[in-house]
Amino acid sequence: MKHYLIHPTWQCQNSCSYCWVENTIRNRPDLFNAPPATICEWNTALLRDTPDAVHIAGGEPFLSPVTIPLIEAWGDVVEFSLSTNGLCTNQIDILTNHSHLSKLTSVNVSYHPEQITLEKQSRHLHTISALQEHGYEVIVNIVNYQNNIYDSFQYLRNLKALGVNVVISPYEDSSCLHTLTHNPLQCQAGITHLVIAPDGRAWPCLTTLRSPFYPVYCLGNWIDGLPEDISTHVPYPCYLDCHDYKLKREHIGGDIWGTNPTPYSEP
Ligand code: SF4
Repeated sequence: MKHYLIHPTWQCQNSCSYCWVENTIRNRPDLFNAPPATICEWNTALLRDTPDAVHIAGGEPFLSPVTIPLIEAWGDVVEFSLSTNGLCTNQIDILTNHSHLSKLTSVNVSYHPEQITLEKQSRHLHTISALQEHGYEVIVNIVNYQNNIYDSFQYLRNLKALGVNVVISPYEDSSCLHTLTHNPLQCQAGITHLVIAPDGRAWPCLTTLRSPFYPVYCLGNWIDGLPEDISTHVPYPCYLDCHDYKLKREHIGGDIWGTNPTPYSEP
């Protein structure tokens, strides 16, 4: 099973203090300001290399003009899921007015109390109801950071009462990636899984992209066709403080990207 995590944009209306994009990509002009690929370029690349499943994330993916056309073009071939902050109601209206795209398996509508105003809260609720009414499986995700859960308790309780699946996600601290660990790992990242930036550049996993060593781990530009020797850019054994490994052991969602990190054993 080949799974790609596609970020069509790094732009977002919010700037949450705990967001990994804020703490990494926004501080890297070479990534943040790179011109995004066009829908034509995404389509051509997907024709050449079609994965089984794609998760679309951001930034806020609905701020990109390619998100809906990508799902429309590939939704019958590729299993899609998507993460949104739920604030782009016009784009979500397009999605909910479309005949139900059966391959869009789940929509993760994240909730960010740090940024939320009453107006945004009602937009958030509107989005969730519209998607549910249209038959999409909706998951509301909130990051376990400082007072997030406590401040949102009533709102999250109301969502649960509506039958919405609420998931508490661990805070992902990118600062720990400056230090390498003493516990080597091996995994399927770069083989069954890619993380693809708005301009098409690809990494084996989110941890490698978030780490300060991201230039070393860049596999090349997937839209142009990755070079043959990408294995030289995949950390093996891997000494990064792997976020996927932590998720696999500690989070209810487990190994969500299927990278399957395990302790390294000599061949
Ligand atoms: S072990 Fe973890 S950090 Fe290292 S390449 Fe694999 S998924 Fe990425």
